[in-house]
Amino acid sequence: MPSTSKNCNFCGKEIKEVKKIFSSEEAHICDECITMCSSVLDKESMQESKKEFQKGLNVPIKIKEHLDDYVIGQDEAKKVLAVALYNHYKRIDKPIVKNVELEKSNIMLVGPTGSGKTLLAKSLAKIMDVPFAVADATALTEAGYVGEDVESILSRLLASADFDLEKAKRGIVYIDEIDKIANKSESATSGRDVSGEGVQQGLLKILEGADVYVPVKCSRKNSTAETVLFDTTHVLFICGGAFVGLRKDKEKEKTSVMGFVNGKEKEVEKKDIEAKELISFGLIPEFIGRIPVIAELNKLSKEDLIRVLTEPKNAITKQYEILFEIDGVDLEFNEESLEEIAEIAVEKDVGARGLRGIIEKYMLPLQYTIPSEENLGTCLITKEYIKGEKDAKLVYKKPSNKKPSKEIKYDDIKK
Ligand code: ADP
Repeated sequence: MPSTSKNCNFCGKEIKEVKKIFSSEEAHICDECITMCSSVLDKESMQESKKEFQKGLNVPIKIKEHLDDYVIGQDEAKKVLAVALYNHYKRIDKPIVKNVELEKSNIMLVGPTGSGKTLLAKSLAKIMDVPFAVADATALTEAGYVGEDVESILSRLLASADFDLEKAKRGIVYIDEIDKIANKSESATSGRDVSGEGVQQGLLKILEGADVYVPVKCSRKNSTAETVLFDTTHVLFICGGAFVGLRKDKEKEKTSVMGFVNGKEKEVEKKDIEAKELISFGLIPEFIGRIPVIAELNKLSKEDLIRVLTEPKNAITKQYEILFEIDGVDLEFNEESLEEIAEIAVEKDVGARGLRGIIEKYMLPLQYTIPSEENLGTCLITKEYIKGEKDAKLVYKKPSNKKPSKEIKYDDIKK
């Protein structure tokens, strides 16, 4: 005889304790057990597809090739990063092999502003399809002081993983301006250094891997916010900084050993930056000890900057071309105009970071007037236009006796 009261055959709960019970002739299952089974299945299938995806991708050569799609130059740094990332995910799969514990390979990127440090970190996360968060080391303070504490970095990572803790635990964090939390002077012992060494101390734990209570909705302003226990063992930390002055010392070293050996000029290779140099810059040894991989990025040359303008998948000129295409206009930059734009960036010493700002200034008047131009086929950006000497060249599809709109006078951009 079938029982009158239905209980879930999995968890034993009665119908009144749950929202719904699904029944066959002999068995019952409640909505809660269904949800749990479904999330287990989802997780498994996600992991399967991730493994498939990464199998073909995560060998270092492939990682570097993918980085090439987004980042110009910086070949050495890309190789170092590709290997570090490869080892990192190997370690996640097998933290201990033959009783040997594989240590985490957090990374330090040293390079001038606008050379692609953030872009490299971001691109790595994109390639590996893992959550990514950027933090500014200068905004951090030791716990208990005004400013962000180090846990806020993990809150941000959690948010970028749509609050999926498991996903966030395998994410990548980029901590910018790490050189700014260096101890400026060893004699500065008066008062607590809450934003320098204090922050380095605070970062030690999360860099190495620890269970940390993290507020779910960012910032400690909302002190009643829910917290979750976040294990940072598998989070990859990439720190970046310009470390101004570090390379200068290297250059000096280089010239002092330059000379003649057996009558031949001695080639001196560019030396790698070593941990002890970062320590003498003011980062504490325990901190540097947790960042075993150091990669250096070079200042981008004029030629690199031209490539940055045109080659990456989402290059700025490509973006503007699309914007114009929507208005039915072909936007073209001739070689000389690109050179001129790169030259301005070199003069301003802003690296690739400044390119967008520079080019935007030239695109604005065009974007203002061109949507009203009839029959316009092509808009050619020339060197003269960039120099403010001439208007951009407009080519109409049909012969037009209409003069280009008066608005296309670019006096405002003349330097
Ligand atoms: P950094 O972190 O070294 O100061 P970013 O990575 O933030 O510099 O670079 C700022 C912007 O400049 C990036 O978003 C990107 O558009 C561009 N950029 C910088 N370096 C490169 C590069 N090597 N290749 C392509 N684009 C670059």
